[in-house]
Amino acid sequence: MDTDVLIVGAGPTGMTLANEFLMTGVSTVLVDKLPQRSDLSKAGGVQSRTLEGLDQRGLLEPLLATGDHPVTTGHFAGVPLPHDPDRHRLPWRAVPQVVIEGFFEQHLAARGLHARRNHELVGLVQDDDQVTATFANGATVRSRYLVAADGAHSTVRSLLRAAFPGQPGTLTIIAADVRLEGADPSTSHTWNEDGHWAALFPLGTDPQGRPLRRLVLGGPGRSLPREIPVTKDEIRHGLSTVFGSRVQLSELRYARRITNASRQVEHYRHGRVFLAGDAAHVHLPLGAQGMNTGIQDAFNLGWKLAAAVHGWAPENLLDTYHAERHPAGAAALRNVRAQSLLMDWAGTRDPEVLAARETFRALAQLPDVQNHLADLMSGMAIRYPMPGTGLHPLVGRPAPDLDLGPVRVHELLRSGRGILLDPADTHAKVADSWSDRVDRAGQGADTEPMLIRPDGYVCWAGTDNPEPALAHWFGEPR
Ligand SMILES: Cc1cc2nc3c(=O)[nH]c(=O)nc-3n(C[C@H](O)[C@H](O)[C@H](O)COP(=O)(O)OP(=O)(O)OC[C@H]3O[C@@H](n4cnc5c(N)ncnc54)[C@H](O)[C@@H]3O)c2cc1C
Repeated sequence: MDTDVLIVGAGPTGMTLANEFLMTGVSTVLVDKLPQRSDLSKAGGVQSRTLEGLDQRGLLEPLLATGDHPVTTGHFAGVPLPHDPDRHRLPWRAVPQVVIEGFFEQHLAARGLHARRNHELVGLVQDDDQVTATFANGATVRSRYLVAADGAHSTVRSLLRAAFPGQPGTLTIIAADVRLEGADPSTSHTWNEDGHWAALFPLGTDPQGRPLRRLVLGGPGRSLPREIPVTKDEIRHGLSTVFGSRVQLSELRYARRITNASRQVEHYRHGRVFLAGDAAHVHLPLGAQGMNTGIQDAFNLGWKLAAAVHGWAPENLLDTYHAERHPAGAAALRNVRAQSLLMDWAGTRDPEVLAARETFRALAQLPDVQNHLADLMSGMAIRYPMPGTGLHPLVGRPAPDLDLGPVRVHELLRSGRGILLDPADTHAKVADSWSDRVDRAGQGADTEPMLIRPDGYVCWAGTDNPEPALAHWFGEPR
């Protein structure tokens, strides 16, 4: 065996996972077919739940210190969703994917983990004990587990012949990073009368401090095959169709066509191989959900694979990855489809679509609707299915970031271990049997007792005996 886990793909999903393994002492080989990291900005924003995950690993402050990453508003189908600090601790941030990837690359390298580049996986076989991966350059890596984080056109997915049902792309839109003259600096969406539309999102600033923006353009006549390069004239024409002469293109940094294909793998686990990120789900880039869902896949899978490698994973723990993340991915695909229809991205101007959009925009002014949509788009609405009846309302949900006196919950999670909050100091004896995997904390704190998994989700809360939950999630007592 060359390594415990082979991660194929050094995008945001693969690098987040690699960091989880560094933290938990799992030997890892991270490979990527590219000779160097991509310099495309791609996804432009980080949602509240992803920010919480990064904070739980001590990565948020150093990430935000890399530059100007302003607080921004999420949106649903173009309707802005203002941040409510009472509901979500951390507001959305405009952090381009390229910054996140650069940050992770440095962070991992500083800890001795360098992606092996020019390693294009071309073959894999697995048996009961291991996975053997072969590469175009002739290399071979044998590992106990393999994670496919190799993106939307995943080779691993093809080699597994994994079912990838959904809808094929029926249109393309243009995504570009630009500098503009005359554009409103805040997030804005706008349409013109004949179905041409443009969406603008802040992307921070260039080295000279000038604002950069993600521009997304679509509408009738704009849906060209992906292979056809986007021209500056096309962007200028798109801008003038929507904004008239108000907004001018100053600089085009890059532009690509993106399709509205919408697919999700049927099974996230294939024996010793796990699919994560875009390898498991693809959809239109609406609300940075692609990158965020992938990073959250990695937080979910990391500690479970570490438990399996270290030999304490309870039976079926690895299967909970599919059980928890497949519904989360399916929910993202659903909301993206709904948004795509409501935004009329195809530019149909179909009266029924326009009527649905107007009705939706009116509904979206209601505070309860805004809260529902903000929970959905921030990643905070996730409730993982967990065993038991009459579950405590916190179970399956992200742990509240309680102030426990000397520390807060997210700081405790930086250990990468489970946490048993024991305010009445009654579970010392029980907790001792799992003290190699779970830390007991919060004695005397003003909180309910609860058990928190290393990924920050509550898996037990209340007044009954925590022992069954400890055994269910953290395996046999010592
Ligand atoms: C132009 C563009 C704009 C986008 N804009 C947005 C946006 O605005 N909002 C949004 O949410 N999302 C956007 N996305 C999607 C977002 O970038 C993805 O959801 C995100 O990158 C997924 O991360 P990942 O790590 O799962 O996969 P990726 O980032 O795709 O990383 C996969 C990695 O695997 C490597 N790889 C592939 N095949 C192999 C192989 N056989 N062997 C070894 N390595 C391999 C690749 O080189 C790559 O580095 C955009 C994507 C593109 C291309």
